[in-house]
Amino acid sequence: MIFEGAKIRKIGLQLRKKDCNEKNLHKNVTFVGLKLVIMKKCFPFLMALILLASCNNKEIDLTTTFEKSNYLETDSYDGTIAYAKLLAKQFKEVHYQNIGTTAMGRDIPLLIIDENGYTQPKRIRKSGKNIIFVQSCIHPGEPNGKDAMFLLIRNMLKDGYNADLLKDFSFIFIPVLSPDGLANFSPYNRINQNGPKQMGWRVNAQGLNLNRDFTKLETPEIRAFTSLFNQWEPDLFFDTHATDGADYQYVTTYSIENFGNYDEGITRWLSEVWEPKIKVAMLKQNIPITRYIEFQPWGDPTASLYDESFSAMFSQAYTTARNCPGILLETHMLKPYKDRVLSTYHMIVETLRIIHGDKENFNNTLVQAKKNDLKLKKLPINMQPELNDTIWEDFLGYHFDAVHSDITGGWYYAYDTTFPETRKVRRVFSTRPEKTLSIPKEYIIPAQYGEVIDIVKAHGFEMNLLKSEKTLQVNTYRFSNVEFMSKPSEGHSCVVYADTEEITKEITFPKGSAVVKTSQNGVRLLSNLLEPEMQGSLFEWGFFNNVLQRVEYFEIYKMEPMAKTMLAADPFLEEQFKQWKASFPKGEEPSQYAILSWFYERSPYCDKNYLVYPVGLVR
Ligand SMILES: [Zn+2]
Repeated sequence: MIFEGAKIRKIGLQLRKKDCNEKNLHKNVTFVGLKLVIMKKCFPFLMALILLASCNNKEIDLTTTFEKSNYLETDSYDGTIAYAKLLAKQFKEVHYQNIGTTAMGRDIPLLIIDENGYTQPKRIRKSGKNIIFVQSCIHPGEPNGKDAMFLLIRNMLKDGYNADLLKDFSFIFIPVLSPDGLANFSPYNRINQNGPKQMGWRVNAQGLNLNRDFTKLETPEIRAFTSLFNQWEPDLFFDTHATDGADYQYVTTYSIENFGNYDEGITRWLSEVWEPKIKVAMLKQNIPITRYIEFQPWGDPTASLYDESFSAMFSQAYTTARNCPGILLETHMLKPYKDRVLSTYHMIVETLRIIHGDKENFNNTLVQAKKNDLKLKKLPINMQPELNDTIWEDFLGYHFDAVHSDITGGWYYAYDTTFPETRKVRRVFSTRPEKTLSIPKEYIIPAQYGEVIDIVKAHGFEMNLLKSEKTLQVNTYRFSNVEFMSKPSEGHSCVVYADTEEITKEITFPKGSAVVKTSQNGVRLLSNLLEPEMQGSLFEWGFFNNVLQRVEYFEIYKMEPMAKTMLAADPFLEEQFKQWKASFPKGEEPSQYAILSWFYERSPYCDKNYLVYPVGLVR
C-alpha cells in the first residue's frame, strides 16, 4: 500500500517538472503535423510566409500569464480577452467572436479554431471535422480549463505540438462563460483552493450559479451558450472545473452520464470506449484518474463513494440530453495550479486521440442517437443510487486521522499528504429510475405561459403556435401533497415534492399557445423541461407555482352547511370522506378548515385550475 502511494508521489513531482510547451512530450508527432499544415495551406507563398511567421513569432510574445508567473497565476477578465484576441490576431486559424453580453455589459467571448480558418459550422462539417466544444470559467474561481486551452491552441499553432489534431477537429472554445464573475477577481474567492493567486467569483452579477441554469435559461450567459449550441450542434463537450470535498491523490476526476437515462449508444460509447481508454492514456501521462469523487456524507473519507446522474440543469447532462456527449472535468482544489491546468490539457488531448482512433464508430453513434430521439417513447427518470449494487475499488487517498477541535467541540479529518495510501473504498456505481415516463406525442403550452414558451423556443425546439383558440381534451397532471424548499434556490421558490396523478381534462388553449412535437432531436431535454416530476423541470423551479396557490376562499359558516348538504346528496362522497379521515394517524387528525377545504375542492365553486398542471399532454 505504501509502495503505491510512494509511486504516485513521485509521479506528482514528475508532472510538475514537465514543460508546458510540451517540448519533452510530443517531439514525435507535432513536428510532422506542423509541416503538413504549412505544406497544404501556404504552398504558393511558402518561403515568404515562413519568413513572415517566424518574424511574427519573434515579435509577438505568446507566453501566457500562467507561464510567466511560474504557473501560479491566471488572467483577469481583461487579460483573458486580450490574450484571446492576441491568438486571433496572430493565427489565421483562430477567430474571435462575441456571443453575448452579460448583465454588466461585458462581452462573452468565443474562439473558433479551425485548420482552414472557417467560421461557419456547416462549412467546417463539410470539411470533415468534428466540432469540439470546450467551456471554461462557468465558475470563474476554477479557471484551469482557460489556461489549458490557451496553451493547447498556442502549442498547436505556434509550435506544432498536437497540430495533427486539427486535421480531425475544430474547436469552439469559451474562455470565460461568466465574465462578470471573472471580473470579480480576488485572492479570497475560493477558501479551500490552492491558487491561482487571484481568481473569479462563483456566480454571475445576478448572483446566479450558471451551472444550475441550463433548463430555466434566466441568465444572459446560458442564453448565449444555448444559442451557440443550437447554431453549432457540437459533437463533444467539455466543461472544466475544480472540485471541493475530501483530500486524495487524484489531480483530475471526471463525470459522465452513463446511467441509462440518456441515449443508449452514447452511453455505451462513454462507458465502453472512452472511459477505459482515457484511464490508460492518462496513466501513460503519469496522471491516474477516477470518476468524480462524491463521498456520502460529503467529504467523509470513511464513507462510500456515490456515482450520480445529473439533471439537464447541469452543463454536461444538458449537452448529453441533446446527444452531444458531455464530459465534466473536475480537478482537485488542493493540487498545485500547474498540475490542475496540465491534467485538464491532457484530458482534452487524450480524449481527442481516442475519438481519432474510433472516428467512424463515434460519428455513427451520434447520427444514430439523433435518429433514436425521433421515436423515443419511454424515458427513465430521476435515477436513484442502487445501494445493493456496489464494488470495492482501490482508492488513491492520503492517510488521515480524526482530530478533536477545542474550538467547536467537533471532530474533523486531518490529512497527511506526505503519507499517500491506497485503500479499498466501496462505490455505489449504478442507479435505478424512480419511474419510467411515457413520452406524449405533443406538449401544448398555453399562451399565458409565454415565459415557458420562450424558454422552450430558446433551447431550439420547433413548435407551432395556435392561430386561434382551441378547446381540447388532453391529459395532464393533478398535484397533491406539494412541498416547497424551505429556502430560495437560485432566487426561486422551488417545489421539492409533489404527488402527481395523470388526469384527462378539457382545456381551452388560447391563440398563441405552443404545440411542441416530441419527435425531435433532444426530446430528453424537452421532457426535462416540461415533465413536472423530473429533477430540474420548470415546474420544480417554480414556473407553475401560480396553480399551487388557492385564489378563492370560503367562510366557515357558509361551508359547514354546504358540507352537510353534499354528504346527504352523495353516499359515495360520504364513503370517500370516511376513508380520507381514517387515513390520518391518531393525533394528526385534520383541522376544521382542512376538512372544509376537502369539501370545497369537491364543490363546483372550487377553482378548476387549482393544483392542475396547465400544460397539455397529447398521448
Ligand atoms: Zn465548478
